[in-house]
Amino acid sequence: MKSANSVLSSYGTTIFEVMSRLAVEHGAVNLGQGFPEGLEPPALLEAAARAMKEQSQQYPSMMGTPALRRAVAEHARRFHGLTVDPDREVMVTSGGTEALADCLFGLIEPGDEVVLIEPLYDSYLPIVRRAGGVARLVRLEPPEWKLPRRALEAAFSDKTKLLIINTPMNPTGKVFDAEELAFIAGLLERFDAYCVCDEVYEHLIYDGRRHLPLICLPGMRERCLRIGSAGKTFSLTGWKVGYVTACPALLQPVAKAHQYIAFTTPPNLQQAVAEGLGSADAYYRGLADGLQARRDKLARGLAAIGFSVLPCYGSYFLTADFRPLGWNGDDVEFCKHITVKAGVAAVPVSIFYQAGDVRHYARFCFAKKDEAIDEAISRLARFFGAPQA
Ligand code: PMP
Ligand code: GLN
Repeated sequence: MKSANSVLSSYGTTIFEVMSRLAVEHGAVNLGQGFPEGLEPPALLEAAARAMKEQSQQYPSMMGTPALRRAVAEHARRFHGLTVDPDREVMVTSGGTEALADCLFGLIEPGDEVVLIEPLYDSYLPIVRRAGGVARLVRLEPPEWKLPRRALEAAFSDKTKLLIINTPMNPTGKVFDAEELAFIAGLLERFDAYCVCDEVYEHLIYDGRRHLPLICLPGMRERCLRIGSAGKTFSLTGWKVGYVTACPALLQPVAKAHQYIAFTTPPNLQQAVAEGLGSADAYYRGLADGLQARRDKLARGLAAIGFSVLPCYGSYFLTADFRPLGWNGDDVEFCKHITVKAGVAAVPVSIFYQAGDVRHYARFCFAKKDEAIDEAISRLARFFGAPQA
């Protein structure tokens, strides 16, 4: 047999799938893969069902339905004061993952350098490499996940085509602040580079913090591609509806990738998301408040068992150091062990790095029903012999 593509073949099955399969096999409470439970808005489910019955089920425009493009533009105006032309600056994709791939395939020429910040979401690097890009990795280190400005600057060169940033960030829960973003904006201008802004968690942000899209900073309108995901904003990850917002000169090449990858996205789901984006402020506040309460519940439970839990300002995820529990193996062994033996699945943080010694943190997803969080905590408490709350 002739060999398959060597870049993609060098990767195993994604950890999210691996841990979810293991969780099912062992009847574990799945706090591994990042998907919410119990938060799906009934109005969107009804809107999708209605649109399924009443609207066309044929290919919509490859750029997305006019209603959804208008809703994405209006959402950007409402939350970020950003003026967006829905006809020329918005493209609907089949999820944030497709949007990321479209941006990377559409912009990277073989040999271009791409700056990536670790810990990084698992789809970035394979796609960058498959597109012929050369990755320049910069590391954030726990427990503070501070942006190493010197190292970031050193990763840029005349060959840099683009940077990918993810804020709020998976798995760290970091939210980039205005100063960090201004520093990044300076580098993009100095090195004439673009930025793919993975902002799928923009509404999952806590403790009164506000999400600041890089595209809103001076000079960034023509350099940034902003990616959103209805999967996260409406707790419907299986729908795979995403969107890219960028100036026409950047969006056009990205649309060239999209037209050969997914081309379109189910029209009834687009209609429901268009309606959802117009939800009252109470919806968005309720989403963040509800998740913040779950974050706090899980953090308290893990801390009582003995984990050292890091702060989380956004996203679905808590990162916890398990060394205080006396575990001497690495994080991959730990997460498999607790899935099989304690009946609680988590994801090892080392998989978000290419190498190095961050091997003692587990990522727990808190976007679950209260009962699931309670059950996970009591299983872990029993397993580690901690007093039950
Ligand atoms: N980026 C990050 C950082 C994510 O965690 C996810 C979650 N899957 C995505 C992108 C992709 O989102 P979607 O499910 O819309 O493809
Ligand atoms: N973003 C989710 C996570 O980090 C999962 C996405 C996926 O399974 N590909 O867990």
